[in-house]
Order: sequence, then C-alpha cells, then structure tokens
Amino acid sequence: MLKKLVRILKYVLPYKTNVFFVFLFHLFASFFSVFSLTMIIPFLNILFGKFPRVTETVPFEFSYQSVEANFSYLISHLIEIKGEMAALGIISILVLILFFLKNLFTYLASFFMSPVTTGVVCDLRNAIYSKVLQLPLGYYSEERKGDIIARVSNDVLEVEVSILRSLELIFKDPLLIIIYLTTLIIMSPQLTGIVLLMLLVTGLVIGRIGRSLRKTSVKVQHQLGHLLSLFEEALGGLKIIKSFNAEGKSEKSFKDSNNYFRNLVIKMWRRRDMASPMSEFLGAVVVVTIVYIGGRLVLSDNQSLEPAKLIGYLVIFSQIIQPSKSFSQSYYNVLKGYASIERIDKILQAENNIKNEPGAIEIHAFNRAIEYKNVSFQYKEAPVLKNINLVIEKGKTIAFVGQSGSGKTTIVDLLPRFWDVQHGEILIDGTPIKKLKINGLRGLMGIVSQEPILFNDTFFNNIAFGKENATEEEVISAAKVANAHDFIMNSENGYHTNIGDRGSKLSGGQRQRISIARAVLKNPPILILDEATSALDTESERLVQDALTSLMKNRTSLIIAHRLSTIVHADEICVVNSGEIVERGKHDDLIKMNGEYKKYFDMQNFS
Ligand code: ADP
Ligand code: MG
Repeated sequence: MLKKLVRILKYVLPYKTNVFFVFLFHLFASFFSVFSLTMIIPFLNILFGKFPRVTETVPFEFSYQSVEANFSYLISHLIEIKGEMAALGIISILVLILFFLKNLFTYLASFFMSPVTTGVVCDLRNAIYSKVLQLPLGYYSEERKGDIIARVSNDVLEVEVSILRSLELIFKDPLLIIIYLTTLIIMSPQLTGIVLLMLLVTGLVIGRIGRSLRKTSVKVQHQLGHLLSLFEEALGGLKIIKSFNAEGKSEKSFKDSNNYFRNLVIKMWRRRDMASPMSEFLGAVVVVTIVYIGGRLVLSDNQSLEPAKLIGYLVIFSQIIQPSKSFSQSYYNVLKGYASIERIDKILQAENNIKNEPGAIEIHAFNRAIEYKNVSFQYKEAPVLKNINLVIEKGKTIAFVGQSGSGKTTIVDLLPRFWDVQHGEILIDGTPIKKLKINGLRGLMGIVSQEPILFNDTFFNNIAFGKENATEEEVISAAKVANAHDFIMNSENGYHTNIGDRGSKLSGGQRQRISIARAVLKNPPILILDEATSALDTESERLVQDALTSLMKNRTSLIIAHRLSTIVHADEICVVNSGEIVERGKHDDLIKMNGEYKKYFDMQNFS
C-alpha cells in the first residue's frame, strides 16, 4: 500500500505547496471540530447544575488539563457574577464560532485541493499524448488503439474520481481519527483501550477485502479497453460490416463483451460497497460496548466517570465513525483506481528505442548518396529483409517491384527510422542514420503512401501541415503542382473547405493529390512513394501521376510501384523477392535478362 501511494504521490509532487496548505487547513479544521464537540461537557454540566466550582486559575500551558482548568475557571467565574443563563449563552456562541472556523478551514482546504486534482489529471493527459506521439510505430502493432484511447479517457478519469478525490481523505481521515482518539484517551484511557482493539479488527477485515478488490479492478479496466477497441474498429470498418451484412455478428460480439464487462463491474462494486455497511456495523458494536462499560463505570459506587463526561465521550466517539467509514471507502477507491495508474504508467514507462543518440549530429541537407549496407531486418522472429545492399545517388530515381509481402515497404520505412535495422546500417552522405538527429533526418524526406493520411480540417491546413507559417501563395502553388488547385477551387469554400474525417468527403484521387501537395510544399530532397497510385482508377491515376512527375523533378526518389509503366524510366529497378533483391538494373536490361521482371511485365501487358 505504501509503495503504491508513493507512486501516486509522484504525480502530486509538482503541487506540493498546495498540498501543504490542504493539510495545514485540514489540521486546523480537525482541531476546531474537536474543540466544538468537547463544549458539550460544560454545557451538560451547567444544565444539570453540576458545574464544578473552580476558584483558582492554573498556570497556562499547552495541555488538555491546563486548558480545561482555565476554561472551567472562566465559566464558573461567569456563572458566579452573571448567572447560568449567561454562561450557556457564552458557550453557545463559542460553539458557533468554533463550527464556523472548522468549516471555513475545510472550505479553504478544498479550495487549495482543486488545482491539485485538475492539475494532475491535466498533466497525465498531456504526458500520455506526448508519449503516444514519441513512441515508435512498432509499439502500436502490439497494442489495440481503443485500449490506448481508454487509457487517456477512462483511466485518467478513474484516477481523478477514485484516487485524487480520495487522496485528500486518506490523509485527512487518519488525522481526524488520531486527534479524536487522543482526546478520547485523555478523557478515559480504559474505554479507549477497548475502542482501539475493535478498530484494529475492523482494519484487518477491510484490508482483506481490499486485496481482492484491486484484482477485479485491473480486469475491469482491461475489459473496458477491449470494449472501446471493438467500438473503434466498428467505426473504422462500417463499410465492410454493412457490405458483409455482419451487423448481427458484430453486435453480438460487442454485447457479449459488454455483458462480461458489466458482470465484472458488479463484482467490483459489491466488494467496494461492503466497506461502508461493514464498518458501520462494527462501529455500532463498539458504541454499544462503550455505552455498556461506560454506563457501569458511571453507575458504580465510586462514580469513576461523570455522566456528562460519558456523553461527551460518546459524542466524540461518534465522530470517529464517519472518518473511519470514509477512510475505508477511500482506501478501497484508491485500490480500485490504482489499476488505472498502472495502466497509464505502462504507456508512460514504455521504452522508446528509436530516439536521438547522445551526441547525435544535425543534418540539414542531402548532398551525395543514400547507402544500404548489408541490411537485415525482422519485425518479430521471421526475417523480413536479408542482406540488402543499395546505393542511391543524389538526383536518381530508384524503383522497387515485387510481390505483395516481399518487403518493399519495409525497405523504405527503414530510411526515416520508423524501425531500426538489426544488422548492417543505412548511411546518408556516409553518416549512419542512427547517428543523425531524427528530426533532421525525417525533415529530408517526403512520403506519399498508398493510403493518404489526412486530418479532419480544411484543405489549407491539410496541405500546410508539414510547414510552419506557410503562406497562402505557397499553399496554392503547391496545390497547382499537385493538380489539386482546380477541384479545391470548385469546392464550397475553396481552400477553407473542411474535408471531413480523414478526407471522407473526397475521392481517392483527390485525397492523394492533397497529400502530394503537402509533400510539394515541404519540398524535401528525398521522396518516398509507396504505391502512391495503386488505389486509384486510371483517370485519376493519370492526374496523380502527372502530379508525381512534377514532384519528382530534381529530387532523389525511392518508388514502390504497382504498375510498371510508371517506373520504366527509373535509373535503377530492384526486384524484391522474400526480402532479397533478386534482380536489378534498368528497364531494358531487365527485360533482356528474361527473368522475374520480364514475367511481371508480360503479365501486366496482357491484363
Ligand atoms: P510489401 O510492402 O512488399 O508488400 P511489407 O514490407 O509491407 O511488404 O511486408 C513484408 C513482410 O513483413 C510481410 O510478410 C509482412 O507480413 C511483415 N510485416 C509488415 N509490417 C509488419 C509489422 N508491423 N509487424 C510485423 N510484421 C510485419
Ligand atoms: Mg507495401
């Protein structure tokens, strides 16, 4: 428990000044609360006409006895000169003032607490978002997207509701309990011995339930992530689900998952809900015991306890029940929320193995050549690339062809370090790319892939995405190069038309031309085209191909092409087969060679 609290406190640490005030004010509030309640003793004594006549003051010290004696002196002095009514009035006013102060400080504590709670939640969200942006692509092939969304939304909320709101209580309640208990010990050590024993038993029982609560809670959060994943996948795959008439199937798997989730939550809530009734019942047992034993002390011959004091004792004891209950409740809440902290931590602690090396070199320009030296690579166990050797001189165009799954995308993805090679190295102008600053390296490249990545924003912002402070003229001239200007101007608000979620209001060819315009605007020396036209029909392919040809002018290009007609003029064509380059050369040479490339070529000419 303690170790877990420390881990949570790590996030609270930046707000330590506020936290200090929160506890200080809670401390004040607790003191005033105890004082106001002890006033019941002189009150009852005056009512029953039993107020002790105190005629002497004692030297003032900061101790219960001294304060009590001096207070009694003041009151009995007051009774003597002004009468009992006046004394009652004074005590009533005193109680009011004490209660006012208690509540004032309680409010102040909450006042200082809300910046802490909201601050931690805000920090967590920011931290997850920036981590999500940093983590290498490999991380996401292992994790479900919906689960990551669940962490940033639901788990963060859970931390707020379960942990941060309880955290205050977890410190405040024990404080209250200690202050009340100390008062009780001073009032009657015998009775308090019994109270302590019973509290110990309660604590043990509560701890037991707590452990199983945490386990269930971990399952609940995990299952919720699964549920959100299903939702997210359904949203992304609506077209497919509808076209395969798979609504029923999809619905069923969601319902099952949801039901399972519901049952887990029931289980968890029942555990948690046990805390409060159980501690209340145990509290009642203690009260009855005190009434019984205390009553005997009052009734016994030597009257070892005054009746007013027993009632005062009971009133104060009754005040322990509330914080004990709320303490066990918050303890459970923290355990429940702790599962979420762990899930959040798992993202935040995830290793990012693609990052700048110490002493990484800046790179702003590409001057001579890109070189793949004996590059071998695997995603998991199976090798995907074997011994790739390649030199791409500045200004040349190199093309990759080969069956789907042969490793073409993997070859080009290694260049911007979306993945790091396991063997061999890739060099730019003689420097291994691992020794370059990643931002600089990626700044050299423009990537146009088969599935254009667009954001739910305007044409303008989608094109200007990769360049800060792009001007209107720059964006327009980029769109013109990309053959996109005309259809953009024909849309409702021109460049300020929103293109919908991932560009859903556009055709495939239009989307592709927007992503080409984006690359044109970035104006990178190295261009990577990964089947940029293969998703398009012939008409839009021609438009896009024109755009690409303008884009490739004066650049070094790595092209993966589905249709060979687009690469016949490449300076070098590499035929990739099962992760190896099996043939390479110019189009005419490869045709003459009468090998694999010739086979592809003949196949495409027939179709
Ligand atoms: P191509 O682009 O030539 O169609 P890829 O380079 O995309 O081929 O894939 C090469 C091989 O690597 C395939 O067998 C594919 O299953 C595997 N692969 C691709 N991406 C991943 C990934 N993120 N995780 C694991 N395996 C992958
Ligand atoms: Mg591919």
